This record gives sequence, structure tokens and C-alpha cells, in this order.
Amino acid sequence: MTAIGTRSLAPDFLDGDPEIRPRCDGADPERFFTASEAEAQRVAAAYCGPCPLYWPCRGWALRQTNDLHGVWGGTTQAQRKRLRRQGRS
Ligand code: SF4
Repeated sequence: MTAIGTRSLAPDFLDGDPEIRPRCDGADPERFFTASEAEAQRVAAAYCGPCPLYWPCRGWALRQTNDLHGVWGGTTQAQRKRLRRQGRS
């Protein structure tokens, strides 16, 4: 399984084409786990927006039932909670 840079989680969707690299590869993981919602949204836009793995990462993040922390697939933890409540992905 390929790790996302130095981030601790390594989602299964990264088992695939080694040529496709996540934008967060090598980024400071602390940036993705900020306590500030506004900063998390900025990180999501800057890294995830142009990431080639945006959709699989987003789908993976929304399927997690363990109250996943941090920015994943262009979403913050608060946004994922809201999307799940609304039944959207
Ligand atoms: S969508 Fe965001 S969190 Fe997911 S792999 Fe890409 S940059 Fe990383």
C-alpha cells in the first residue's frame, strides 16, 4: 500500500497507478489536521481541488464511519458530517 506522504492513514484507493500521485504527497501532515475550519477549507482547496485522486479520496473519506479527522478528498471533518447527515457524497 502506498502511503500518502507522511500522513498516517493510507487509504486503499491509492493501490493503483504509481504514476498518479496525490497532491498531499510529501506535504506537512499537520496542515491537514488544523483545528481551524477556515484553514482546513483553505488546505482542502489548495491541495485537494487539483488532486487527480480527489473523487476516490472523497468517496473513501465519506465511507469512513470512525469520525475521521482532518482534510480528505476536499472535505473537512465538519463538511463530511454535514454531507452524511444530508445523505450526500
Ligand atoms: S484529495 Fe486531498 S487528501 Fe486526498 S489524496 Fe488528494 S490531496 Fe490528498
